[in-house]
Amino acid sequence: MPLSVWGYLSEYEKERDEIIEAVDSVFRSGRLILGESVASFEREYAAYHGVPHCVGVDNGTNAIVLGLRALGVGRGDEVITVSNTAAPTVLAIEAVGARAVFVDVHRDSYLMDVDQVEAAITSRTACLLPVHLYGQCVDMGPLEAIAARHGLPILEDCAQAHGATHHGRVAGSMGKAAAFSFYPTKVLGAYGDAGATLSRDAEVDARLRRLRYYGMEEVYYVVETPGYNSRLDEVQAEILRRKLTRLDEYIARRRAIAARYAEAFRGTELLTPRVAPGNTHVYYVYVVRHPERDEVIARLKRQDILLNVSYPWPVHTQSGFAHLGYGTGSLPVTEELAGQIFSLPMYPSLTEAEQERVIDATHSVLAEL
Ligand SMILES: *Cc1c(COP(=O)(O)O)cnc(C)c1O
Repeated sequence: MPLSVWGYLSEYEKERDEIIEAVDSVFRSGRLILGESVASFEREYAAYHGVPHCVGVDNGTNAIVLGLRALGVGRGDEVITVSNTAAPTVLAIEAVGARAVFVDVHRDSYLMDVDQVEAAITSRTACLLPVHLYGQCVDMGPLEAIAARHGLPILEDCAQAHGATHHGRVAGSMGKAAAFSFYPTKVLGAYGDAGATLSRDAEVDARLRRLRYYGMEEVYYVVETPGYNSRLDEVQAEILRRKLTRLDEYIARRRAIAARYAEAFRGTELLTPRVAPGNTHVYYVYVVRHPERDEVIARLKRQDILLNVSYPWPVHTQSGFAHLGYGTGSLPVTEELAGQIFSLPMYPSLTEAEQERVIDATHSVLAEL
């Protein structure tokens, strides 16, 4: 059997009864859109993070779009973020008519280099958008100080960081708002598309609720500020409720696998992830680095181990973002990393035997190079 970086089928085998029961309970409830399951999930997800508000939405991209709009970001504004991210982070900025301004990433963490943020602020800057990529948080203390100095809101992109902590604070509880994706592979994954936006401010929450419901109050048919149809589905919400009770278990499994990999590759040329000071890592992806990345991937493929790169082409180098005007060489750390990083298989139901297979195969490939 080929082994790939993620998979949900083995998880489904284990949790099938509960998932089917969740789906059936929604179908029998008589309410398929914005019913009790979405409302309960929102309460439970907010509580997990210790924040007052959560709005369930249709996917992570729109969780960012709605978050930006609820924070008042729009046409002509600039949003400071990174190019080493999933393209949707930047697509969401473009979707509200704003412009992405990139800073480079830190050499060790591969996350936003906060030291570069202040120099990127202009009179048009409307928001700071740190991405807690791969499963650990950006260095938020200094970023919050910059945000406070310039009166800018922070929107956290938490799509890869469910349950990650930073100096004891959980990802999603630090910004004025925070966007999550529950795309099936994520640390908390639905069985389809889903997302959520957390906020600490009742007014932001009220705007988010209108924005996901065409721009209307749910009780009357009047649009004051045009919005979207961006609702979280009842079925996905009910599945997520069940899975949320196991989020900490999923994370513990991921950490155990990460510890095994780190031990196995210590002292080799394969550079394993570094956990930045004050962080706990949830290992959404287990990103390693090797100067002969493409060769390692090709050789492991011959042993039926199919690896992935997050991400092979930094956003600013993609033709669809050429209008942003960042040439090759403009973000040197991001560009260098993109040629060397790749991800090893990582998901909670990855068995010990499968981990062993990855470790042995990788050792044999490293010995050949
Ligand atoms: C997955 C992801 C998104 C987008 O989420 P979707 O649910 O796929 O729309 C945004 N940002 C990051 C960092 C992601 O990993």
